[in-house]
Amino acid sequence: MGDRKHIIYDPARECMSRDELTAWQSEKLKETVKREYENVAMYRERMDAKGIKPQDIRGVEDLKYLPFMEKTDLRDYYPFDLLASPREDIVRIQGSSGTTGKPIVAGYTRNDVDVWSTMMARTLTAAGCTREDIVQVAYGLGLFTGGFGAYQGADKIGAMVVPMSSGNTQRQIMMMKDLGVTMLCCTPSYATYLGETIREMGLVPGKDIKLKAGCFGAEPWTEAMRVKLEELLGIDACDIYGLTEIAGPGVAFECLEKQGMHINEDQVIPEIIDPATGEPLPYGESGELVFTTITKTGMPMLRYRTHDICSLTDKKCDCGRTFARMSRITGRTDDMLIIRGVNVFPSQIETVLVRAEGVAPHYMLIVDRVNNSDTLEVQVEMTEDMFSDTVSHIEGVRRYITDQIKSVVGIAAKVTLVAPKSVPRSEGKAKRVIDNRKL
Ligand code: AMP
Ligand code: ZN
Repeated sequence: MGDRKHIIYDPARECMSRDELTAWQSEKLKETVKREYENVAMYRERMDAKGIKPQDIRGVEDLKYLPFMEKTDLRDYYPFDLLASPREDIVRIQGSSGTTGKPIVAGYTRNDVDVWSTMMARTLTAAGCTREDIVQVAYGLGLFTGGFGAYQGADKIGAMVVPMSSGNTQRQIMMMKDLGVTMLCCTPSYATYLGETIREMGLVPGKDIKLKAGCFGAEPWTEAMRVKLEELLGIDACDIYGLTEIAGPGVAFECLEKQGMHINEDQVIPEIIDPATGEPLPYGESGELVFTTITKTGMPMLRYRTHDICSLTDKKCDCGRTFARMSRITGRTDDMLIIRGVNVFPSQIETVLVRAEGVAPHYMLIVDRVNNSDTLEVQVEMTEDMFSDTVSHIEGVRRYITDQIKSVVGIAAKVTLVAPKSVPRSEGKAKRVIDNRKL
């Protein structure tokens, strides 16, 4: 770690006094509320319904009066009705899987791509990246924000980027070794898989592999996993958080103190709310994370409910940054699962099952992690009629459901048709998910 420990990409911003920051946030918030009110009919109607006009929002202290936004809004106003800039000013679309099989899409103006790249440049710098580094991007490059985010941040720093995208492990390792890659960006589960494969191939981190640090995120992980990863690869492993709706990765990032993720508070205002009442909670308390973007112009989000659970602290960090930090994500307030990086709602699978012939709406989703890759098994009960049908018919139905899940949800699942009445019934709330992943 040594001299890399305290380099800061944007000290004028990242180390602002809290007073300066509040003044900046208030100005930018007012601009964003005005832009949103004037350009996005849905939000204007929502503000009107609450009797709020843009001029009522005088600063950060008035944030709590604004209506919330939700993931369902992105679905209902898909694809372009939440844009606050002319369509032709949008230079990029990114997305993630959504609740209907259609992706959730976000539009970015040139300004927004730049805001995002800056957040990622800060993120990589906080993990020790300089222009001398060689950065392997093993997040998927595509609609998913992970790959492009890491690429843009490393490019902005002027580091050498190796845009591998995800998968093809042997090739990833060959490039890592041959090029002397020093930084890795991917999900923590894939990093662990890469680490184990490197060891199995007889390669020695520190000698054959020159990695020194990595930024790992897009899915929940734990301190125990950090210890394992750091040992496996001989690196500093930093947590990084983001979501498509707000910008992508880099909304929050860990510095090498590894004591929680600094939130890019000059670009987004975080809040923690009580998920049941919507009331803001003080620093230190755990609740639902809510973000307001204050510098984006394409598709600004005001009080966007992430459904991620964590807490915030504004205690000063030894790195010198003044941005508040968020803890690891400890859970979600909805039932969204993240399976191989894809957001999956059990209701999507239920929709497929309800439409299929020969099966009853009794099912169980079993999620596991095998060789550091997530697996999903869908167990669904056959009807009595189906149960006594021919083996080939049963197999046909099984294959049909497998294909439907792949096309609606976007991931491969193992479908098992089980005997009638074999899925456990519950007396209260049905338990439909067993998540055996040891984080
Ligand atoms: P997406 O928009 O597809 O990138 O998914 C965003 C979601 O991924 C977030 O709302 C979180 O639930 C999850 N996520 C992203 N980064 C992290 C992280 N570092 N730790 C835990 N969950 C994360
Ligand atoms: Zn710090």
